[in-house]
Amino acid sequence: MSVSIPLRRDDGVIEVLKGYRVQHNNSRGPYKGGLRFDRNVDLDEIRALAMWMTWKCALLDVPYGGAKGGVRVDPRRYSTGEIERITRRYTSEIAPVIGPNHDIPAPDVGTDENTMAWMMDTYSVGRGHTVLGVVTGKPLDVGGSLGRSASTSRGVVAIALEALRHVGIDSAGATAAVQGFGKVGRTAARLMQEEGLRVVAVSDATGAVADPDGLDVAALESHVDDSGGLAAFPFAKSIDAEDVLTANVDLLVPAAVEGAIHAGNVQQVRARVIVEGANGPVTAEADKALAELGVLVVPDILANAGGVVVSYFEWVQANQSYWWSEAEVNDKLVDRMQRAWRLVTSYAVEHAVSLRLAATCLAVERVYKAHAARGLYP
Ligand code: NAD
Repeated sequence: MSVSIPLRRDDGVIEVLKGYRVQHNNSRGPYKGGLRFDRNVDLDEIRALAMWMTWKCALLDVPYGGAKGGVRVDPRRYSTGEIERITRRYTSEIAPVIGPNHDIPAPDVGTDENTMAWMMDTYSVGRGHTVLGVVTGKPLDVGGSLGRSASTSRGVVAIALEALRHVGIDSAGATAAVQGFGKVGRTAARLMQEEGLRVVAVSDATGAVADPDGLDVAALESHVDDSGGLAAFPFAKSIDAEDVLTANVDLLVPAAVEGAIHAGNVQQVRARVIVEGANGPVTAEADKALAELGVLVVPDILANAGGVVVSYFEWVQANQSYWWSEAEVNDKLVDRMQRAWRLVTSYAVEHAVSLRLAATCLAVERVYKAHAARGLYP
């Protein structure tokens, strides 16, 4: 669905933005997928991301299909009030195709729990009653789940620990680099540090920093909260953003944008393990080259699926109005991630294929089985 979003800016000027919601497959359950506010959003990108969600939900065995939404807008150039008006108009335009049993959005690049609160409120106003289950990733005060905000990162780290063990690297003292210091990247960096890894290089859209002895992630986080980005962080050396991707580390977590590792820079990658925090950070050509270089790549549909797993927990809790403790959420999340890891690695060994191919085969198989079991109506 493509929609127009007329916006009255704070200075009175009217702009018209473009928004999308793509529903890829619902054989296994309601459509599920994030909402992205980014200046590069277009229909093809949202289509691809919707398909990824179908495979991700199937692989993690959550009862959803795949969808994705987006608005072509650079949120940094708009005030909070303008972002709220964009969100509400977009929600009311796509309201006919979303709902707790139909299609359930969540945050993605450039959106957050406030965006989800506005979406839930706008949808609820239209229905005449509060509908907590229409979106996930909401604030705790309006039906969010404990553990949701850190869930994608917690899943990334759970998988990274398994992957390091798989290649025989002791995670205590192992080195890591993280591209992106947003919702996924910064919490992944913090949790990796808590697990004993040394985070030696990080980047975001404003800059990159490195320290071979390990960066102080808490100090980076408060600098970003105060100044809006990593640029001018005073306690570490500034480096070129590209150097984060080619850092000499055990583990690289690209957690920012699509296509970060491509044919042009893949030969310089020195990490032993790459865990895809972002969706599609390794291009198809780079993926082939990494396999030849002997780098273990854990694909996005496995590595960053923690968010949709806890989104599912949030939806279950909201629909039952019964809330779990944070420890319960985190334990259930890590258990599901580890189960999916074991499934994918044993499939990969059995069929002598990459983790990406194994994960995709398993996911496609599950969607196929659901589709075949449902049959053709009438
Ligand atoms: P976000 O908007 O919170 O953060 C993105 C980060 O990337 C920011 O720090 C930004 O400055 C940085 N960045 C942008 N361009 C960059 C560049 N060229 N080099 C280095 N850094 C750059 O977004 P997010 O939610 O953290 O999402 C990041 C990725 O993870 C996306 O691919 C998203 O689809 C994926 N993902 C997110 C979730 C989630 O729960 N948020 C779940 C699954 C997958």
